[in-house]
Amino acid sequence: MSDPFQEAIRASLPLLKKIQQGIKPAPKAPASALRQLREATIHRPARPVAARAPTTPDPEKTAAAPSATMPAPAAGGPWTFESLRKAVLACERCPHLVRSRTQVVFGVGNPEAELMFVGEAPGADEDAQGEPFVGKAGQLLTKMIQAMGFERTDIFIANVLKCRPDMPSGESGNRKPKPAEMATCLPWLREQIDLIQPRAIVALGATAVEGLLGDTSPMRDLRGRWLEFQGIPVMVTYHPAYLLRNQTITEKRKVWEDMLLVLEKLGKKISAKQRAFFTKAGD
Ligand code: URA
Repeated sequence: MSDPFQEAIRASLPLLKKIQQGIKPAPKAPASALRQLREATIHRPARPVAARAPTTPDPEKTAAAPSATMPAPAAGGPWTFESLRKAVLACERCPHLVRSRTQVVFGVGNPEAELMFVGEAPGADEDAQGEPFVGKAGQLLTKMIQAMGFERTDIFIANVLKCRPDMPSGESGNRKPKPAEMATCLPWLREQIDLIQPRAIVALGATAVEGLLGDTSPMRDLRGRWLEFQGIPVMVTYHPAYLLRNQTITEKRKVWEDMLLVLEKLGKKISAKQRAFFTKAGD
């Protein structure tokens, strides 16, 4: 049986040769070839877990790695949403977080969503309930999602980190995930995105952007811009927790304008009422 990965590589070789020869203007690969190459890579049967397990980094000891080793489905073959969920819920890649967590927070929503929201990590409420964005910031996110014309069940919500970052004993509150923790967990989010194939992703806050894309630019440079993750457009906006701390109409409007850009990208109809949210006329 022919290997689709090898076939895609063979189909790409003439193009790679032209690039190597420095032909100008630079040759462009047709979208279909890129898609074929990408799909062949994603669905290539993974190697057995046992062969990779010893290389799993300990995020307490490892400096931020650009990408941790890819997990593989226990039964081999491509991931399904359910096999991925099972593997993520059983993950023990960060022993310190395994010790402190109540449960792993996989993500929630429609596995075929056209839109995905990505936050940084579960907080105390999410750790207790096993669902992302259910605390105060989450309630604000839900309102935003509804103002866009969606329900939480229409879209998919996930975090870069699937476990709540541990806190020093006796301390309450939440801490920012460390770069090494995010690098260790990122393969799970990557697989979620590969399976869902959303048409757009919203990255909530600087930490989500750092975890997803490794970009540590300040939010003033990132917010309202389209970036890209694995060919999927990523809109960067403020984390809802920031809006809870800065409840001015100006800051709310900035986030809302980012959401209007997302709706436009998805080709959604936007009402005049929606366009006017968080302006003096509309609020
Ligand atoms: N903040 C996040 O980034 N994610 C959550 O799930 C909750 C709060």
